[in-house]
Amino acid sequence: MRGSKSRLFVLIAGVLSMWLDGCVYAARPFPVRVQPLPSATATPFSPLTNTPPPPTATPTATPWASPTPRPTLTASPTATPAPLLRPLYNISAVLDFWQRTLTADERILYTNTASASLNRLVLNVEPNQWEGVFHLLSATANGRPVQGTLRGTLWTLPLPHPLAPGRSLALEIHYRLTLPYRTGSRIFGMDARQTNLVDWYPFIVPYDGQTGWLWHKPWPFGDHLVYPSADFDITLKLKHAAANTQIAASAPPDAHGHYRLHAARTFVFSLSAAFETTTSKAGAITITSYYFADLADGGKALPAYAAKAVQTFSAAYGVLPRRHLAIVATDAPDGMEYSGLVFLSRNFYTTYAKNARGTVINNLVSLGMHELSHQWWYDQVGNDQALHPWMDEALAVYSEWLFYRQNYPADVPLWWAFRVNYFQPRGEVNRSIYDYPSFRPYVNATYLQGARFLEALRRRIGDRAFFAFLHDYYTQMQGRIATPEDFFRILNAHTDTPYQDILTAYFAPMK
Ligand SMILES: [Zn+2]
Repeated sequence: MRGSKSRLFVLIAGVLSMWLDGCVYAARPFPVRVQPLPSATATPFSPLTNTPPPPTATPTATPWASPTPRPTLTASPTATPAPLLRPLYNISAVLDFWQRTLTADERILYTNTASASLNRLVLNVEPNQWEGVFHLLSATANGRPVQGTLRGTLWTLPLPHPLAPGRSLALEIHYRLTLPYRTGSRIFGMDARQTNLVDWYPFIVPYDGQTGWLWHKPWPFGDHLVYPSADFDITLKLKHAAANTQIAASAPPDAHGHYRLHAARTFVFSLSAAFETTTSKAGAITITSYYFADLADGGKALPAYAAKAVQTFSAAYGVLPRRHLAIVATDAPDGMEYSGLVFLSRNFYTTYAKNARGTVINNLVSLGMHELSHQWWYDQVGNDQALHPWMDEALAVYSEWLFYRQNYPADVPLWWAFRVNYFQPRGEVNRSIYDYPSFRPYVNATYLQGARFLEALRRRIGDRAFFAFLHDYYTQMQGRIATPEDFFRILNAHTDTPYQDILTAYFAPMK
């Protein structure tokens, strides 16, 4: 028990007012528009070797689910179908701070892993949801010009020749972004002290043999993107950058300036000349907190909590095959997860400094650990975030519970009270983002009822089966896009205890 009752009351009142917002489910309006510039200097294409990085936390675990031999370009007619060949994104970009532009040469090496030929590719171009931001300069497939149709974020690209199963092609895209001012809830863009590059390059959406291309339209709240697991090799040159500009990224650069990351959903950057940093270690993983001077209380406190969270989640779910994680403060109102890097709202830091310093029940710690848990449930185990958002969000909220249970057990009842029960959540857990007209009912059902569902399930089948299931689910689905069928198939392999009544209570009937 920490603090007196009256102090606790003050804290609770503060927490209540803070938790009216939340994380990740930030409303993302569709505003702002902006303009162009010169041409990036392409660096030669340097293929990655798909070598798994060394295991991190627990030495005994083997994190790599997907064997990934290198794809070959279509020259060889003898290419054979191969499972889970990850696309490779090789991007050479120049960021000009005076012009507010990013000019990029992007080369995607893509293998058709479906059982049928593909006559087209479908890409998501997230920056194109704002007019005047994305400018396509040229595109070729295996050297032949292609154009296709770009409407909003959907880019449909007919191929000059069908791409047979197991065959690969090189898609080269030269484009320029005119970076919008970062405003409101949008993380992407540039403001006075920070430039955030998130979902900043076109990517080929996953192709499912049964349902087709997994492209979804943007929605004012929730996450609508479905990312395949991919490999990245990126160079980023800065022009007219302020002195002392620091770069937070999904992974740090190697000695040659290449930002490389394997088996990740996306690659993001955040740049600022005002960043201060504090680090911690969790096993072999270095956690770096990037914050501004006015947010230093929380910024300095986060790495110690994060190290505990990474240890807790690694032990419960499985090893995270990463060496670096970044936690970055930003002016958006919520938190948001990306591969290797999470953003947290400056509001979490300021309220922490005002009335929650030294306590663990507050947005900075709870939502900070939530975002970190997405490295397991989103980055390693992917899901269709638009149609099955509960699959990562319910697990991320429940990961907050797990963090407190393992590290601050006395605070668990308070966490339930103010993170979940205060909102009296209702609604069916397994709805899509498009089933909700507004954000609060979506969060209550997907996140909060989702956590209650997992709690009921754990209590029913017992800790042993529950955590064995989660560990197995993580291991089997790593590098893949899990479906509800996968979730329940693997769950059923770990328990014979009936739980249909819990499903009936929390879920809409599943087809
Ligand atoms: Zn989340």
